[in-house]
Amino acid sequence: MPPLLDIPAALELISTSAHALAEETVPLHEALGRVTSQAILSSEPAPLFDKALMDGYAIRAEDLAQSAGLSTSTPSPSLRVTGLICAGQTPSISLTAGEAIQIMTGAPLPSGTTAVVKIEATTRKEDLVFIHESVPVGANLIRRGAVMQPGQLVLSAGQRLAPQHLAGLAELGIVTIPVKQQPTLAILATGDELVPPSEKPGPGQIRNSNETLLASLARQAGCDVQRLGIASDSLDELTLKIRQGLTADLLLLTGGVSAGMLDLVPQALAAEGVEKIFHKVDIKPGKPIWFGIKRQPKTCLVFGLPGNPVSSLVCFELFVKTALRKLSGINPTIAPAIEALAAVDEQYMSDRPTYHPAVIDSTDSSITARTISWQGSSDLQATLSANGMIYFPANSPPPQQGDTLLAYRWC
Ligand code: AMP
Ligand code: MG
Repeated sequence: MPPLLDIPAALELISTSAHALAEETVPLHEALGRVTSQAILSSEPAPLFDKALMDGYAIRAEDLAQSAGLSTSTPSPSLRVTGLICAGQTPSISLTAGEAIQIMTGAPLPSGTTAVVKIEATTRKEDLVFIHESVPVGANLIRRGAVMQPGQLVLSAGQRLAPQHLAGLAELGIVTIPVKQQPTLAILATGDELVPPSEKPGPGQIRNSNETLLASLARQAGCDVQRLGIASDSLDELTLKIRQGLTADLLLLTGGVSAGMLDLVPQALAAEGVEKIFHKVDIKPGKPIWFGIKRQPKTCLVFGLPGNPVSSLVCFELFVKTALRKLSGINPTIAPAIEALAAVDEQYMSDRPTYHPAVIDSTDSSITARTISWQGSSDLQATLSANGMIYFPANSPPPQQGDTLLAYRWC
């Protein structure tokens, strides 16, 4: 038997087979979770004007420096208050030596201001304000353009847009966003034994949990998901549903790719003109994975994922996500692993490279990971207490507490 394809080679084949999606523009409020297709530059400075960051008094810090009154033994210096500026107003007065202007958070600074003293550090007596702490130049204010200059990069291409990105764009008045088209992804569960989760399984039947798993993973990864339901292990039924699925950018099938008599998926895909790129990878769980591409009339990447739920999960995280990153132009195409420290002495060892469900914990100073108790690729319930997986190379002695290992977070 020829050696099985190794994981890096499989990832590379997926990365080179996958195409980049076209781009489109969407309004800001529809851009959550989409991926930028171009670098976005600001056409404006931020902030737009010099502004106060605290409620207090706009002052010239140098006026205080000349005063000796900032120790407990000497009286606090005072300045003459000449006006008030609120947020949303335009200052009509400027500040000259020995003066202060009362100001609110977010209000534009009058010209001449070099610092803002917060209200809590002052006492007001009629038109005088007494200042009880030292105020360095630049305190409690921000200058026009201090955080963003016109022409400066706001977001790179290939950035998945999270709420803070959208808010940052809103602040700069960028309301039409260039993004990659949203990948469409169809899911087909195969197997005579499957019933929908809402049904009570008859003898020998099980519920179709993979559809829920894969649809949720795909939605989280920003796909427009189409559920094709369940196909029995018959060529006619598989063919019908595969034809529907091939209209998407990606088609995920689960089950029917191993060596059983009724594992008809590779045969059905070949008959529909899907070109096999690889079948079987040296990985545990997930060894029977099948990957191919339909090129005409429309490009569709097809993954035949093994039916066991944890195999499907691991294969989605590694292989399907690589395809999705390439489609959307996310760099790097193959997601890097996290370097973590073993939280405990691990026991697991195998002659195959393994992705084992695990708990990954992050603190300010370190990331640690530990495996959870797990009965193998059908043990979906074990993954409920995991948030990622640890990579165990084949035939390596298990990592001991404090050793560095490679882990992947599920998100
Ligand atoms: P297969 O890859 O078709 O040989 O299936 C391997 C194992 O996964 C079998 O025990 C199947 O019953 C199970 N399985 C297949 N499809 C699903 C599914 N959609 N949801 C949950 N388990 C499945
Ligand atoms: Mg099956």
